[in-house]
Amino acid sequence: MPPLRPAAPAGVPRALAALPVRELTLAEAQALECNGCGDCCDSRRAGNRWWWGSAEDDFYASLNGGQPLIIPLRETHEGEWEQSLPLPPPRGRVDAFTCAALRPAGDTASCSLYGSLRPEACSGFPLFGSFGAALELEAIEKGYGTPQTAWLPRCTWFDVLIVPDEITLPESL
Ligand code: SF4
Ligand code: SF4
Repeated sequence: MPPLRPAAPAGVPRALAALPVRELTLAEAQALECNGCGDCCDSRRAGNRWWWGSAEDDFYASLNGGQPLIIPLRETHEGEWEQSLPLPPPRGRVDAFTCAALRPAGDTASCSLYGSLRPEACSGFPLFGSFGAALELEAIEKGYGTPQTAWLPRCTWFDVLIVPDEITLPESL
């Protein structure tokens, strides 16, 4: 199953503080499988505590046949949402969002673009590509790296901390 994405809302405290964690190397964590919950693909599936973050001005229309892929949402009444394209200035940041490629199926979901080109914010999330590189660096510098899953309790990697792989640590450390 697909998924992935981006940066949690700014200033969000880690919800993991009081929870047990699994300490895994990056390779061990990457070996786990996305469970296809789809919560990282739509803010409403994650209690509106999960936002897209920095976005391209065309909302990734080039990846979706010319139609916006990532669609900003605005809550009109409690629990009621509407699409809010186009964004008012400043552009470039999307908070609550849904994705045109998301195919919800109850508690799970699939991605109609899976296997195709997708924004790195989702194709790499939460520990592949630049996300993985950042986590590995954080683990070496701080002793642990924290995947951006604090607001995604159903995520495969919700309670995971990335620890350094001692075999690959530089000799100088
Ligand atoms: S393209 Fe949309 S549905 Fe597919 S993984 Fe990215 S955010 Fe999720
Ligand atoms: S929240 Fe985690 S487990 Fe769920 S679809 Fe996204 S990456 Fe996969």
